[in-house]
Amino acid sequence: MASCVANELLHKIKQLSILLPINVCLRRRCSTSSKQRDSQRHLTTKSSSEKLVGVVGLEIHAQISSNSKLFSGSPVCFSAPPNSQVSFFDASLPGTLPVLNRRCVEAAVMTGLALNCTINKKSLFDRKHYFYADLPAGYQITQQRRPVAVDGVLTYSFLGGKKRSQVVRKHVQIKQIQLEQDSGKSLHDDVHSQTLIDLNRAGVGLMELVMEPDMSCGEEAAAAVRELQLILQALGTCQGNMSEGQLRVDANVSVHRPGEPLGVRTEVKNINSIRYLARAIDYEIQRQIGVMQRGGTVHNETRAYDSKSGETIPMRDKEGLQDYRFMPEPNLPPLIVFEDNATLPPGVDSSQVVVVQKIKEGLPELPSVKREHLVQAYGILPEHSFTLVNEEGLMEYFEEVMKATRKEPRKVIGWVMNELLGQLKQQDMSVSQSPISPAALAELLELQETGRVSSSGAKQVFQVMWGSSGKTAEQVIQEQDLGLVSDATQLHNICQKVVDSHPTEVHAIRNGNAKVLNKLMGLVQRELRGKADPVLVMEILKQKTRGGGC
Ligand code: ADP
Ligand code: MG
Repeated sequence: MASCVANELLHKIKQLSILLPINVCLRRRCSTSSKQRDSQRHLTTKSSSEKLVGVVGLEIHAQISSNSKLFSGSPVCFSAPPNSQVSFFDASLPGTLPVLNRRCVEAAVMTGLALNCTINKKSLFDRKHYFYADLPAGYQITQQRRPVAVDGVLTYSFLGGKKRSQVVRKHVQIKQIQLEQDSGKSLHDDVHSQTLIDLNRAGVGLMELVMEPDMSCGEEAAAAVRELQLILQALGTCQGNMSEGQLRVDANVSVHRPGEPLGVRTEVKNINSIRYLARAIDYEIQRQIGVMQRGGTVHNETRAYDSKSGETIPMRDKEGLQDYRFMPEPNLPPLIVFEDNATLPPGVDSSQVVVVQKIKEGLPELPSVKREHLVQAYGILPEHSFTLVNEEGLMEYFEEVMKATRKEPRKVIGWVMNELLGQLKQQDMSVSQSPISPAALAELLELQETGRVSSSGAKQVFQVMWGSSGKTAEQVIQEQDLGLVSDATQLHNICQKVVDSHPTEVHAIRNGNAKVLNKLMGLVQRELRGKADPVLVMEILKQKTRGGGC
């Protein structure tokens, strides 16, 4: 009977493929508790004249790239019509049981290994209770007592120093990575005073990564998240798109005087880009410093970031301890992973279990290694390898140009960093939006290499190509008459004219002041609007100014 009712309900949900209206006013969800373990850190007390500094700890939810959900066979597809990807279990119908998705465990183990974590051979699932309409069971299955991976470290870098061209390397400790279910989505319809529920996301596998409060400002946090994003994308364990909610970052922020215990923290939510993450953190640090300097106290609260005003605004108080009534999940046995095939119990098929060694062997090249390879392979500077890997699509662009030109890598990187990236940044565009393809840039560089166009001319050609997408470098050179003049007779005539009209300069050169040759070169270039072949011109000028040579 129960299963009949359940069947009918689920059938309705699927058939209608609509949002379920919930005509109740719902309490807002609370997340982490306000436990203050902070005071145990840094116990020495220093003079209060020292400056207040920021402390940042991130909690990150990464949606696991998997075809099906964490505990059910429902497909994971984010563009599907609402409530069309919902199994009995996802809708929490009585009598349904969770079945753990091996792919999600492998993704968490792989991520743990890439972040230098210890993988717990045995981890546990727990129920975390809270009431919210998009959580039909009334609890979330998570890993409170014993997560799948612990004690890792993420090494990240950013460009610092005076000119922002020095690679600064830092580390942040990873406290743990736990597997847990995502909730559904609530959409508030104010007009009809309804909350609409879409359960497509309910039960999708998440990895929650908890970082220690090791960072001190927005720039560091942004760099750490960017590195994590690159790592997850390289591993294929999470697509990492923040604006689509695949990577959700909550920033815990406090201020203190170095050497003193950590201050009370606030938690900033609703941050959907790395740029906003940095801004939200820096705003929050300054706000807390202001509060402290005015003699006030910082409250343990959750705040939201408003990207329009650039401010954080209070969402809810966290002083009262939220009771999640954690309890072991009775329907899931402990999660066991095996070190290698030798540790498998007799009769266990290795394809049916998770073997850490196998995952280790399949780890792809991580971004830090990729950067080192770029430095070795092309002899480029570390800061350039950093930018190539960190700017989406730039490394691929550079390597494609390299394949199609004989130009030295160091010169190509100059073009990619200055001309290409300069234009992209100026117009707030991504690499994929560049109107000049790698092949088109390679063609231009080849023309420069073979003397068809000067280096300053090539820059002019680049600008024209940028504004008139589709035109080749050769077309632009012809149309704008930007080609290098290397016609010997023409150059001889112009040089002769310049030499004849500047006897004082010629005299100085003959008396050993070779620098004056550059002046004559400038005059020749002026005659030809900078298009004279400089090598040829220099040769001719030297010849013509040699004692008695004219
Ligand atoms: P809770 O028990 O409330 O979940 P945790 O100790 O697990 O607290 O920490 C949650 C997150 O808050 C972690 O990412 C941690 O780095 C960060 N955090 C803890 N204390 C501070 C603090 N004083 N300032 C900034 N971040 C902090
Ligand atoms: Mg916690």
